Amino acid sequence: MIMMTYSTFGKTGLNVSRFGLGCMRFPDNEQDAIRMVRYAIDYGVNYLDTAYMYKDSEAITGRALRGGYRDRVYIAAKNPVWDVEKHADYEKYLDEELKRLGTDYIDVYLLHNLNHNNWESVKRYDGLTFLDKMVRKGKIRHKAFSIHNTFEAFKEIVDIFDWEMAQIQLNILDEHRQVGVEGLQYAADKGVAMVVMEPLRGGSLLTNVPREIDELISRFPEKRSLVEWCFRWLYNKSEVSVILSGTSTIDQLKDNLRIFEDAHPDVMNEDEKALIRQIQQVYESNNSIGCTGCKYCMPCPQNISIPEIFKLYNSYMLEKSHKIDKYVYNDAIVPNAKGADRCVACGLCESHCPQGLEISRLLKDVHAVFASEEK
Ligand code: SF4
Ligand code: SF4
Repeated sequence: MIMMTYSTFGKTGLNVSRFGLGCMRFPDNEQDAIRMVRYAIDYGVNYLDTAYMYKDSEAITGRALRGGYRDRVYIAAKNPVWDVEKHADYEKYLDEELKRLGTDYIDVYLLHNLNHNNWESVKRYDGLTFLDKMVRKGKIRHKAFSIHNTFEAFKEIVDIFDWEMAQIQLNILDEHRQVGVEGLQYAADKGVAMVVMEPLRGGSLLTNVPREIDELISRFPEKRSLVEWCFRWLYNKSEVSVILSGTSTIDQLKDNLRIFEDAHPDVMNEDEKALIRQIQQVYESNNSIGCTGCKYCMPCPQNISIPEIFKLYNSYMLEKSHKIDKYVYNDAIVPNAKGADRCVACGLCESHCPQGLEISRLLKDVHAVFASEEK
């Protein structure tokens, strides 16, 4: 029996599942990925999110949607605006995506990751006119963008065009970071459908869980996992239309679908909100680096394993007696010429990091921590 929860997609009026399948972290085996996409659709998921830059994601999604599945979903896909060198390039990439996806139109089409440089490029090459033109041609249905940036930058973009959807990063730790809940409410008030990405911060909220958080959750009368609490905090917000989750296994997907069977807004009581505030405080006190492991910063010309190093550091900061992280860094990463000490501060990685991390400075700090302390 299908029990997915649905919401209205802003001013478009579309009826979308509150769970959206993120197609960025597909399993390696294509047949498993196809099974996963079809399982989600059969369960009632009708929103899929992919992008030109997600390796084979669009082609695999296209093959998964054969046999009648295409007509049962809304596809969101993204233009790689950083590769655009002239106005005609936008349509060139869109045509390629349509071919990969095996469809005549894309339901929701995004200008991908409008950070400062990409937004300047969109203005230079008139990306907004391109979107209007593609709607008229019938190649796309709705105009959208994704962003990892400040509220001020977000507001400037929202105010300048008739957007129908905006995709932002939001999770319990980013409530007041990047666009944050302030941006969520601002754009939703204008009728822009709001889609949330990184609800678990690329999984990092689950990989470095302080013991205090486990204790808080287990003491709470209502028994829910940390994943459930993270999603519940999001679906409780009526401004959120769709929450994307990029599951890599069918078991993860099934668990997510179970959580979204009852994903209605305004369901959290005061005790639950207080629990979330306590969880947020514990995370905030951990001094971890806000890397989501997305790998947009890779490859580094110096061959530095940036996300791997940050992951080790975060794990180490959580439990300093757990010296294995330090050993891995000093005995495996550094000797293989992948260590933070090789950074020449060229800045290439930082221009791609959606989290706006000062990567070269952080690498220096991490190296100092790992190298200075006794092995
Ligand atoms: S700043 Fe450092 S880590 Fe980043 S790309 Fe350059 S060398 Fe690599
Ligand atoms: S450093 Fe930034 S770009 Fe690189 S993996 Fe982490 S969040 Fe992604």
